[in-house]
Amino acid sequence: MSSKGPKALIRPEIQALNAYHVQAADNVIKLDAMENPWPWPGDLMASWQEKLTQVQVNRYPDPGASGVKAGLRVVMNAPEDCHILLGNGSDEIIQIIAMAMAKPGAKLLSVEPAFVMYSMIAKLTGLDYVGVPLQADFSLDLAGMLAAIELHQPAIIFLAQPNNPTGNLFDLASIRQIIERAEGLVVLDEAYTAFTDANMLPLLREYDNVVVMRTLSKVGLAGLRLGMLFGKAEWLDEFDKVRLPYNINSLTQLSAEFALQHYEPLLQQSAAIIKSRASLQEVLRQLSGVEVFPSEANFVLVRVTACSARAVFESMKAQGVLIKCLDGGHPLLQGCLRLTVGTEEENSQMILALKAALQRVEHGR
Ligand SMILES: *Cc1c(COP(=O)(O)O)cnc(C)c1O
Repeated sequence: MSSKGPKALIRPEIQALNAYHVQAADNVIKLDAMENPWPWPGDLMASWQEKLTQVQVNRYPDPGASGVKAGLRVVMNAPEDCHILLGNGSDEIIQIIAMAMAKPGAKLLSVEPAFVMYSMIAKLTGLDYVGVPLQADFSLDLAGMLAAIELHQPAIIFLAQPNNPTGNLFDLASIRQIIERAEGLVVLDEAYTAFTDANMLPLLREYDNVVVMRTLSKVGLAGLRLGMLFGKAEWLDEFDKVRLPYNINSLTQLSAEFALQHYEPLLQQSAAIIKSRASLQEVLRQLSGVEVFPSEANFVLVRVTACSARAVFESMKAQGVLIKCLDGGHPLLQGCLRLTVGTEEENSQMILALKAALQRVEHGR
């Protein structure tokens, strides 16, 4: 390769990154990515497909996706005076915020472990990333956070409520202190809003330095790629300049509008997931050598204490059940596996595979 090749020309921080890895998932029970396990009920599916025939793919989409925003306002119960910005998944919104705020030397702060895209996008956009470890029980280290804010003066702070990959909610009083102490913008990421009673939208009324991010991915529309940011015009009008004009395609706009007009089935499915989560946790707690963490999301974090979590993960995969192995990702996640809550049938299969895996690994079979 000549001196003009990629090694010489691609930014070194990009070359140092690992690409975001998605596990192959053919012919397995897929419980690794917090997807809703169910399709839409039959009659809805049919009328959605009927609607899709009206899409004019020769035309550009509505750049403001006004129909989708109107639907979101209702379904998400957004404060009347707040504005909405849409992204191709909330991943894109993280990127838009980072690009808009990546001045030389600017910092992005989050907790560890947190959603991996925060640090990854910080690096991609040239922001300095600062990670403050959570406590051993995955609660916020408030003193550590306040000290890091003081020291680093981050331009952006990301907090997921509840947090991924740990599943717990952070203490609201601590979040308030962080917001009050921060000079920068605090992004509250409510990707799992469907599975918790927590609601950060009211904070928009109280604080000028808060925006709230949500997504339709975890509630059953991961394939559409639709994320949203709620906040004041002062912030969102600036972020909107960074957003590419047609980032929400016509098929997504039509499908999301339709889904938001028929949101009840998705809410019912989320309610069923919450119930299944409780029974799954109950069964997991009976297993010896497994520690179960509380969850307000559609997944459960467990720690395998009696043997190698990686080996348990591999054994479950060999049995046709794909979950997420977090061991090795961060010291606090030692021995940890993340289990997405699926259908009752999938959960039973997962438990069977987990039990068998624990047996095999512990007894070296
Ligand atoms: C899944 C997830 C997202 C990303 O959602 P998309 O809208 O699918 O891009 C954002 N934040 C957290 C905490 C998540 O777990």
